[in-house]
Amino acid sequence: MFVTSRLYTDAVTTGPSRSTMETGTGGPGTPGGGGNRVRPGDGRLNDRTTNQETVDFGDVKVIFRLCPNCGHDNQGSEKIPYCPDTWDMTACARCAFIYLEKSVAYEELLSNMAWEKTSKAEEKRRARSRPISYRFSALTRKRLHLFPRKNAALLVGRYARPGRVLDLGCGDGGPAQDLSERFVPFGIEISATLAQRANAVFERRGGHVVNAPCVTGLKTFPDNYFSAATLRSYLEHELKPKEVLHELFRCMDDNAVAVIKVPNYGCVNRMVTGRNWCGFRFPDHLNYFTPSSLRTMVRDCGFAIRRFTLMDHLPTSDNMWMIIGK
Ligand SMILES: [Zn+2]
Repeated sequence: MFVTSRLYTDAVTTGPSRSTMETGTGGPGTPGGGGNRVRPGDGRLNDRTTNQETVDFGDVKVIFRLCPNCGHDNQGSEKIPYCPDTWDMTACARCAFIYLEKSVAYEELLSNMAWEKTSKAEEKRRARSRPISYRFSALTRKRLHLFPRKNAALLVGRYARPGRVLDLGCGDGGPAQDLSERFVPFGIEISATLAQRANAVFERRGGHVVNAPCVTGLKTFPDNYFSAATLRSYLEHELKPKEVLHELFRCMDDNAVAVIKVPNYGCVNRMVTGRNWCGFRFPDHLNYFTPSSLRTMVRDCGFAIRRFTLMDHLPTSDNMWMIIGK
């Protein structure tokens, strides 16, 4: 079962409604969406949208975000100068969470700005603007791959009971193929092209992929359905991280674990290399977690932290890993 378009339409129509601030050429108003009130602190989005010209993708629909951690409106506050163009990176004046105030709307991510396209554009931008450091970091990445690294499938094998495993932002399904036969892979992926590829792989093992934003995709699954979930390099991309975590909590059984991997904004490399840090990807990476802000967010969403040792968030590593459960 490959679940697609209708769900995606639901995602659009039940998401933030267009508002009076919209200036684009979006045509007639999107149906539905009324009644989605923004409540302070619940991580929901402000409904201000506009259109913005981008170098690689032309005119795209953009959403202004409240703080995804506490709901505070930081528009007009001082910006962090790492961020190019007009994506506006800020540290929340209320809770200090670091995030981009503008995000590309979900419907752009489905195809026009699907990750497989924006990541190529970002690679080109990096190579253009910093040829030497970019080549150096590419070499470094290759070298680092020689050393044993953490792997979500291995961690699932070690910490989860056999059963269904959900990969949020599953891409083309490649990494989930490392899961042992004890697990049935499921996925949610917003890029239509990648979701279709992953679905072909997961169906052979009894699972399937939902092509939708993760909040909407999660709603298609029953309570207590999964014995594990993986969020590999995903949460930093998510427009609504708290809503996703809340919904994921519902879908996980009482013994389930979720493995999270995100860039660590608090790492030494970011402080040394500044705007050249590999964890910056504009506008793909919307949320910039530190060990402290990641801890706070998952706990706020009801999770207990099962593992988050110093080895999981070494200041010398660009990424951090966390295992959470109910
Ligand atoms: Zn905040």
